Amino acid sequence: MLSVQNIEAGYGHIPVLRGLNLEVADNEAVAIVGANGAGKSTLVRAILGLSPPTTGSISFNGADIGARPPHSRVEDGIAVVLETRGLFGELTVAEHLRLSEHAGSRARRPDGFVRMSLEEVLDLFPVVREKLSTRVEFLSGGQQQMVAVARALLLQPRLLVLDELTTGLAPKVVQEILQALGLLRARGLSLLIVEQSVKLAAAMTDRAYVMSLGRVVHEVRRGEWEQALLDDTLSKAYLHG
Ligand code: ATP
Repeated sequence: MLSVQNIEAGYGHIPVLRGLNLEVADNEAVAIVGANGAGKSTLVRAILGLSPPTTGSISFNGADIGARPPHSRVEDGIAVVLETRGLFGELTVAEHLRLSEHAGSRARRPDGFVRMSLEEVLDLFPVVREKLSTRVEFLSGGQQQMVAVARALLLQPRLLVLDELTTGLAPKVVQEILQALGLLRARGLSLLIVEQSVKLAAAMTDRAYVMSLGRVVHEVRRGEWEQALLDDTLSKAYLHG
C-alpha cells in the first residue's frame, strides 16, 4: 500500500529525514515511535506532500505520490489528522463534516471499496453527533480531536495517518478513540500512527518503526510488541514511557 523508500526531507536547507524507509501493507496498523525531534511529524508532512522528499520515493498503491501536492491526497486515498488538527474555530461540527463528505464523495475509489456513511462515522463518535450544531471553538480538546478524525474518515481514505492523536487527552477520551480505531481496523482501514507512548502504540497497532535522528533505528515486528513493552533498553534509548 504505502512504500517510503530512502527519503530525505526537511525544511529549506535543514535536513531532517536522512534515508528513511517504511512500508504499510493493506489492512495493517503501523506505529511510528521515537523521542521528541526524531522527525516523526516531518515524516507525516512528507507523506502528506507538505515537505516533499528531495531524494527517494513515496509510493501509494503503486503510484509515485512523492511530488504530488497535498490536495491530491484525498484522491490518492490518504487522510491525515495532523497534531494541530487543522479545524476552523468559527465553523460548526456539521459544517466541517459536510465539507469532507462532499470531497470524499467525489474521490474515485476502487471497485469493492465500501464508503463510510455520515451515520456510521457518527456512530463511532457519539460525542460528535451531540455537538453537530456547535462551533468547533467551543469544544474541548478531546471533542475537537474526534471531529478531526470523523472529518478525515469522511474523505473515504484507504490509509488514515494520525499524528500524536492522544497527546494531552484525558484517559477516558483516549479509550474512546482506541475503541473507534479498533472498529476501523476491523473494517479494513490501514493506519499509520505517530505516537509518543509505547503502550498506546502497542494497543493500537500490529508493529512499529522506532525513529531517531531522521532514520528508522529499530523495528518492532508483528508479534513482538509484548517483548518490546518489557524491553527497557528500547524505552530508555528512544522513548517516553
Ligand atoms: P515531536 O515528538 O516533538 O513532535 P518529532 O519527532 O515529530 O518531534 P519533528 O517535529 O519532525 O520531530 O522535528 C524534527 C526536527 O525538525 C527537529 O529538529 C525540529 O526542530 C525540526 N523542525 C521541525 N519543524 C521545523 C520547521 N518548520 N522549520 C525548521 N525545522 C523544523
